Amino acid sequence: MYCVTEPHRDAGTHPWFERVLAPILHDLGATCAASFEIRDARWEGQSISAGISFVICHSLGAEKRVSVVASGKPSHDIADTADKVQDVATDALWFEGLSPVWPECPEHPGSHALLATVVSERPVWLCPANREVIAEIGTLADPSPQVDSA
Ligand SMILES: [Zn+2]
Repeated sequence: MYCVTEPHRDAGTHPWFERVLAPILHDLGATCAASFEIRDARWEGQSISAGISFVICHSLGAEKRVSVVASGKPSHDIADTADKVQDVATDALWFEGLSPVWPECPEHPGSHALLATVVSERPVWLCPANREVIAEIGTLADPSPQVDSA
């Protein structure tokens, strides 16, 4: 079951969330065995040190507030946020007794997770072993598409 809900579109709604969070939620939904919900997304602070925060909730009840300082460069914000969400996803997978690796490197299965970073001003997942760019953040595909049994 892969399921990620959309961030709430309430008072904290800001274009940042659509731009930065959407690709990460896509990758989580496509490739992470644990499911999450985003709650209480907020745009905080004033122009100089503006940032966002949101609570990412794991289906088993654990939750963590993630804060990110907005750099003004979406690609950097996406990589920074993906890195933080990766920590939460890793903990959640461990908690569920699953392999605590997300997103798993497709070139080296069973060994390591990909690294969120910025290459040529694009937010990407990088293999930490050979430093190869695997995919742009937001474009990870489900490695084993399930046959719809519903
Ligand atoms: Zn690798």
